[in-house]
Amino acid sequence: MKKSAPRRALIAGNWKMHATRAEAVALIDSIKEAAGARDREVVIAPPYTALETAARAIEGTAIGLAGQNLHWEPKGAFTGEISGEMLKDAGCTYVIVGHSERRQYFGETNETVRQKIEAALRVALKPIMCIGETLREREGGNTLPVIERQVRDGLAGFGRDVVRGLTIAYEPVWAIGTGKTATQEQAQEVHAAIRTLLKELAGDTGSEAVRVLYGGSVKADNIDTLMAQPDIDGALVGGASLDAAAFSRIIGFR
Ligand code: PEP
Repeated sequence: MKKSAPRRALIAGNWKMHATRAEAVALIDSIKEAAGARDREVVIAPPYTALETAARAIEGTAIGLAGQNLHWEPKGAFTGEISGEMLKDAGCTYVIVGHSERRQYFGETNETVRQKIEAALRVALKPIMCIGETLREREGGNTLPVIERQVRDGLAGFGRDVVRGLTIAYEPVWAIGTGKTATQEQAQEVHAAIRTLLKELAGDTGSEAVRVLYGGSVKADNIDTLMAQPDIDGALVGGASLDAAAFSRIIGFR
């Protein structure tokens, strides 16, 4: 089915805790050719230590830079944390917020996600808000209520004008790094539910502007089917974003 609104596709690569500076440069070098098409945006999220190097390596390319996380405070005694301003200073335009690994291993909640989105917006960083249900929640028939809670709480207090400019990544936790991708029907069902909820939070027109990415074992051989779904506007890619050939093919989805 054809996409009902002019949402420019976004393919984002989350490198997680991978890549030295030299590896970052080599990877960027081998994906930059693939990233030039006008109808799609490409963003990479290297680890903090490689951001500045990556910012230099993407100069003159169509690739954008994202942080993998940020703190909600602008500065202070928060050992090991990074602020939005620091990410901007290193060359980022986007930041991933509330990735399931942050929720699972570092205690992030819908409330910290909300605070981090606010912090990102304060410095004009574009947040990519991650949401997704666990296998237990899916098997218990709770997928849609969990997703609704995450969206409502994560976006609590933001006006329509703010919500319409956001990017959401639906990433079923059971599909992340497992090789088990949601079927296109499973993904589309949740994306459509998110879009319906967004109508309430951003209005009819606003909801059509929000990009909703899918994440969870996106690979070269499933990206085309996923992108053919009407409410899937791009992908947040983990493992496959570290493989130049696979990521180039994902960027070149048809
Ligand atoms: C992710 O980390 O956001 C992710 C989707 O990982 P993977 O593609 O490896 O499942």
